[in-house]
Amino acid sequence: MIKRKIEFYKHNLDQADKKECLSILNTIFLTTGHTVKLFEEKFARYLSLPYAVGVSTCTDALFLALKYYNISADDEVITTPLSFIATANVIEYCGAKPVFVDVEESTGNINADLIEQAITKKTKAILVVHLYGQMCDMKKIRKIADKYQLKIIEDSAHCIEGTRDGIKPGTLGDFACFSFYATKNITSGEGGAIVCKDEKAYEWLKKARLHGMSKNAVDRYTKRYEHYDMEFLGYKCNMTNIQAALLLHQLDRIENFLKAKEAICRQYDKSFSKNKMITIPNVLPNTKHARYIYTILVDPQKRDLYLEKLQDMGIGVAINFRSIHFMSYYKKKYNYRRGDFLTAEKFGDSTITLPLYPKLKQTEIIHIINTVNNITLTV
Ligand SMILES: *Cc1c(COP(=O)(O)O)cnc(C)c1O
Repeated sequence: MIKRKIEFYKHNLDQADKKECLSILNTIFLTTGHTVKLFEEKFARYLSLPYAVGVSTCTDALFLALKYYNISADDEVITTPLSFIATANVIEYCGAKPVFVDVEESTGNINADLIEQAITKKTKAILVVHLYGQMCDMKKIRKIADKYQLKIIEDSAHCIEGTRDGIKPGTLGDFACFSFYATKNITSGEGGAIVCKDEKAYEWLKKARLHGMSKNAVDRYTKRYEHYDMEFLGYKCNMTNIQAALLLHQLDRIENFLKAKEAICRQYDKSFSKNKMITIPNVLPNTKHARYIYTILVDPQKRDLYLEKLQDMGIGVAINFRSIHFMSYYKKKYNYRRGDFLTAEKFGDSTITLPLYPKLKQTEIIHIINTVNNITLTV
């Protein structure tokens, strides 16, 4: 067990969430039911979209989105190498090929100007990631997708609250997928959601998360027994009422969480601005950053030394992310080499994620800032 003074992350569950969860435990209906529906409606409303479907994880949400478009062997999906492995893995699950496009130096988001040259006859979709909570250039990407008749799926695991040019996640994409994993902006330990504007897709998703069954558990429980049918081969990744109960009220407080995190980011920005050893990804004008995490970039030769020293000082750290094409599976399968995606590699080799959450105390923030600034004097 590492002795840690400052946790990397603390969740924001409060009495209202725990009470709601307990009330579910006191009913007989633990799985997908009324509370999931309530959460879905509230989540869709928050994003100003008509439809949301609760699932087990964001990975499942992304997988379902690809499956809806029948993405399969011989297809290609364009995506970013600078993300959590789930983004590329779901493409592999379909038997398709993830085609990586390098990222922007300033934000770490997929470089929209490089997408067109990666499109081939096999390309079916573009899977974008709103990295760290800052949205990609969805207007530009939508234009490219329309020109080549491609689908867009947004991996919005980092970005519930963000906007760019007034546009929210899910507005220009065909699907947007969200995560409620343990460290995400709102959490139920594990959980996910997928949003869309198309009613047909919505109806398909509700069945696809439950084996393709024609009737869900609520139908079967509340009405007299009727035989169900299986209309197509679906999966098993429905959200439970327990998860939904934990999420329902966090959604009311999500803007407050963001304000608290925004204030910490400003303090970090200010304190690191004079430190020549550290750069910070840009926040672009006309964007509302969802502030999933706070990352700094340091000399790649010294990055792991920083990691050691931060941990020695009791500070929880993470790396978001080492480029996916360097993971053994991808490296072997597709023969990737150093230099294939230079900017993503540079990010992956230089980045460090610092603690960022509303419960972070002022004394802790100062300890983190002083530690980082002192390391730069000694390494
Ligand atoms: C967390 C994360 C996921 C996966 O979310 P799960 O809910 O754990 O499946 C996918 N993409 C990105 C970018 C993530 O950070």
